[in-house]
Amino acid sequence: MSRDYDVIVIGSGAAGLSAAVAAADAGARVLVAEADTQVGGSSRLSGGHFYAAGTSLQAAAGVQDSADAMYEHYMTLNQWLVQPNVVRRYCDLSAPTFEWLQTFGVRFAADGLYRSGVGSTPRGHRPEGSGEAVVQHLDAARAARNVDLVLDARVDSLVTDSDGRVCGVRIGGDEASAGAVIVACGGFGANAQLLAAHYPSAAASGDWQWYIGSPHAQGDGLRLGQDAGAAIEGHDRGLLLVTPGFSRDLEVLLPGWVVLINQAGRRFADETAPYTVLAGLIHKQGGPVYAVFDEPARAAARRSPMSQAYWVDEVLAQKADDGVIVRAPSLEALAAATGIAAEALAGTLAGYNADVTAGSDRQFFKPVASGARSIGTAPFYAVEVRANVVCWTGTGLRIDADAQVLSTAEAVIPGLYAAGETVGSLHGDRYIGGGGSFGPCIVFGKLAGENAARFALGLNE
Ligand SMILES: Cc1cc2nc3c(=O)[nH]c(=O)nc-3n(C[C@H](O)[C@H](O)[C@H](O)COP(=O)(O)OP(=O)(O)OC[C@H]3O[C@@H](n4cnc5c(N)ncnc54)[C@H](O)[C@@H]3O)c2cc1C
Repeated sequence: MSRDYDVIVIGSGAAGLSAAVAAADAGARVLVAEADTQVGGSSRLSGGHFYAAGTSLQAAAGVQDSADAMYEHYMTLNQWLVQPNVVRRYCDLSAPTFEWLQTFGVRFAADGLYRSGVGSTPRGHRPEGSGEAVVQHLDAARAARNVDLVLDARVDSLVTDSDGRVCGVRIGGDEASAGAVIVACGGFGANAQLLAAHYPSAAASGDWQWYIGSPHAQGDGLRLGQDAGAAIEGHDRGLLLVTPGFSRDLEVLLPGWVVLINQAGRRFADETAPYTVLAGLIHKQGGPVYAVFDEPARAAARRSPMSQAYWVDEVLAQKADDGVIVRAPSLEALAAATGIAAEALAGTLAGYNADVTAGSDRQFFKPVASGARSIGTAPFYAVEVRANVVCWTGTGLRIDADAQVLSTAEAVIPGLYAAGETVGSLHGDRYIGGGGSFGPCIVFGKLAGENAARFALGLNE
């Protein structure tokens, strides 16, 4: 039976382009359908960091690492509440796929290797030129393989044959047939309804919540997959960053000179803890959390590479004048205005100040070099911070370790594959670290491309 294509890939981000290139290299005739007027999706906006173990970059830096060690860390951090077979496949393929990516011209300099997340082993690999360069190189590889690309072509629905095999896509009034379809539509960060349904922690910050990725991250992958009977994996998954919500500027870290205080008047974290865990800690407090500081800290706050928009002397003064930040003449007044338990706040700050004077944070081990300073000179300030910036979403289609989409009946949906942020099987309560979303996009994109091509070409035999 003649088909328009062997493999149709929906979406041209890191996952979709990796899938398309791999499928073409496996001998398939491939079409990429992209809703936007340009390729790249959120991947093009991204840092493009790749979380991987056992790579050539690590070896060159003298870092001993392995898929086994990565797997153990990944599973432990997520309390085993992720699909072990899918995580294992990611760990096993992370290094070979990282090397594969470089064959298209993507470069990772020696200083691009860093400790991302909370692990002690450096597994974050930062590409030269960020995600945009990765997309450009992958798209050039796509074009060099004569893989067709249609832009401005949002796939509306999948076509399924009488045997239940996914055999094509519909775009507007057009239909294209294929041996297999790969869903690589990205996440749903730009869709408020889906955030409310699948990522309540993100939706909880109300008007403060905003999304940093592509406006086309509408969750089409979930809808397309579910219409074909796919199961959804994971709930309330993704990455949120913490801000005081003054504006929509992306700043990843809090300054070391604030303390985070919950309603009980206690600190609960090193305020400079990795962004991979800080949002989760804030949510665990069960109520508003305030960043507290004093007048000398405010007056000394200067624009820095870390903060241009929020933690700056005149911005803080203005926000206090506007009533966005609570400014109070005493700690008691600050507590009264914020609902923080007053006695505990006083005790917490007394202990913290003693630690700062002694040169070591004996409770939460915040590094002294982070800029920690005593908080004791009025006026005092408190500004609510929330984990409100959605970076990516982690609830998605349930796949097996071969990137085949699984149905609600726990059966493979023939002809349907998925990769990238559309997939939910890898992400648990905690983000593994920088590169933990982009890395799986490339790994499962390539794998989906290879497997979909094999499946589709097998139909011809
Ligand atoms: C600013 C920023 C920085 C980031 N930095 C990092 C980082 O350093 N490391 C990391 O691990 N993660 C990072 N992330 C997250 C990571 O980049 C994304 O999770 C990842 O790039 C998603 O890739 P993808 O291919 O799955 O989706 P995308 O790159 O979003 O591609 C999906 C494509 O599908 C298209 N599409 C959607 N619906 C349809 C449809 N119905 N029909 C056709 N096409 C459709 C979209 O237009 C889009 O082009 C970052 C994200 C952002 C926004």
